[in-house]
This record gives sequence, structure tokens and C-alpha cells, in this order.
Amino acid sequence: MPEKSNCLFCRIAQKDIPAALIYESDDIVAFKDINPQAPTHILIIPRKHIATMNDILPEDAALIGRMTLVAKELAAQEGIAQKGYRLVFNCNQDAGQAVFHIHLHLLGGRAFAWPPG
Ligand code: AMP
Ligand code: ZN
Repeated sequence: MPEKSNCLFCRIAQKDIPAALIYESDDIVAFKDINPQAPTHILIIPRKHIATMNDILPEDAALIGRMTLVAKELAAQEGIAQKGYRLVFNCNQDAGQAVFHIHLHLLGGRAFAWPPG
């Protein structure tokens, strides 16, 4: 797993690497996915480096909860709240996790299949 210093999403949160930021708070940052899979595709991340969802702790519960509240607000801001959207955390290889700093995908603006591929 990458260390914090060379973690892509830590570096985006610290503005060492540019991204299309759309939300920032003390503990959470959101930005547009560089390879969008839907008309709206936003990544919501904690500033705290947590490699995978296997690594969240009880003390992270409020942080994870706030990430979902940010997702709700951004869905409304994007105008997709009423038609609907999908929130996804991918964990490890079977889910296709590629960046090992947890991120909540907010996807919307089109209909999605279920079950996922
Ligand atoms: P995952 O497969 O859940 O780990 O998703 C990683 C996501 O990060 C993918 O949707 C990528 O397109 C996205 N991504 C990778 N690098 C960047 C970047 N520099 N800026 C924005 N999104 C990125
Ligand atoms: Zn990180």
C-alpha cells in the first residue's frame, strides 16, 4: 500500500497534484473523477489516509457518515438527487479498487444496471 507521502489522493487533498475540486472541508475533499463513467462522477475522500474499507475504525464512523452527507449535498447540487444516483466504495481486487485511499464514488446522470458487472 502506498505511504501517505506518495498517495495520489493524499496529494490531491494537499493540492500537491491538481484536480477539479468541487468541495473542501476540514476533513473531506471532493473532486471530479478524471475518467468519468457517467455524466456526474465525483470522488469524495477523507483527508485522513485510510487505504481500504477494511481499514476503517470505529473512530472513523462519523467521518464516513459525513462523506455520505457530502454526497447527498453534491447530488442535489448536480441536479441528480430526484432521478437518482449511485454511491460506491470499491474494496480491493474483486471490486477493482485502483487507488488505495478510500473514496466514495458519486455517479449519476444516467441509469445504471443492477446487478453491477
Ligand atoms: P477505484 O477503482 O474505486 O479505486 O477508483 C479510482 C478512481 O480514481 C477511478 O475512477 C479513476 O478514474 C480515478 N482517478 C485516478 N486518478 C485520478 C486523478 N488524478 N484525478 C481524479 N480521479 C482520478
Ligand atoms: Zn492517502
